[in-house]
Amino acid sequence: MRIVVLAGGIGGARFLRGLKQAAPDAEITVVGNTGDDIHLFGLKVCPDLDTVMYTLGGGINEEQGWGRLDESFTVKEELAAYGVGPEWFGLGDRDFATHIVRTQMLGAGFPLSAVTEALCARWQPGVRLLPMSDDRVETHVAIEVDGEQKAVHFQEYWVKLRASVDAKAVVPVGAEAAKPAPGVLEAIAAADVILFPPSNPVVSVGTILAVPGIREAIVEAGAAGTPVVGLSPIVGDAPVRGMADKVLAAVGVEATATAVALHYGSELVDGWLVDTVDAGAVADVEAAGIRCRAVPLMMTDVEATAAMAREALALAEEVRG
Ligand code: GDP
Ligand code: CA
Repeated sequence: MRIVVLAGGIGGARFLRGLKQAAPDAEITVVGNTGDDIHLFGLKVCPDLDTVMYTLGGGINEEQGWGRLDESFTVKEELAAYGVGPEWFGLGDRDFATHIVRTQMLGAGFPLSAVTEALCARWQPGVRLLPMSDDRVETHVAIEVDGEQKAVHFQEYWVKLRASVDAKAVVPVGAEAAKPAPGVLEAIAAADVILFPPSNPVVSVGTILAVPGIREAIVEAGAAGTPVVGLSPIVGDAPVRGMADKVLAAVGVEATATAVALHYGSELVDGWLVDTVDAGAVADVEAAGIRCRAVPLMMTDVEATAAMAREALALAEEVRG
């Protein structure tokens, strides 16, 4: 079975670990969000791709959910001693090596997709990890600070400001001119099942869908009978972790499992899983033409996550056209 998953960082990576256990023989292609990418200290950092790669490759800091296991911060401290920041972005020594290799390869002319493949040769994530695009896309967030409107990089909004001010708009800068990376459209067209993990619907899955051609390819695959199933990142009217409610508000979507399903819409998704605490949402989602089930959706461990993945695959079979 060929499965395509549109993934952000932590939510996507943890779900993928469960999916691999639930479907050990499946050929899994991950289309990763690169809208969070940022240049720091002259290096290209791809937080979501690396979170997927480290999580599936056994190198992740489990408690944090991002960054490397057994990490130290000597380089960052030395940079700070020169007064060189930003101090708010945690880059450890081991992680630095990844960004150095990536930046060196990009500088030598390799596209991000080839660089990602090279990095994965070390980590062996057990999935084919593709960036959504080889072109530069950077999510920016419009905010108001002291009566002044400005746009900041998504990382500044998320990591430095902790989404403490309202997001007026979320813009994937460069997306409209970006092309899907090699293999992305082909993987979608060849998929037996397409899954939206419980990733952020705006700045992770939404950004991937903003690359022209990707949404269309999924709609086309869906129309041709490929089931598209999503899992809600919103449980009990709040994000399980992070501040997804802030960026959902920016696109006019309530932080509920129902509102996120309707935001994707029946044109895009055929099936939707909500948590058992949101069982009351099932009827509303189904009324919108999306098959819905309430099952436990907390990724407390790999077993629980694998059970979620099995539910998603079962729902996919139910809605298969
Ligand atoms: P990020 O790029 O690191 O922010 O990660 P993603 O976009 O892939 O996923 C973030 C989303 O994962 C958040 O909106 C969370 O609500 C969701 N999430 C995290 N852990 C869980 C969980 O255990 N269950 C569910 N249903 N969602 C989760
Ligand atoms: Ca992210």
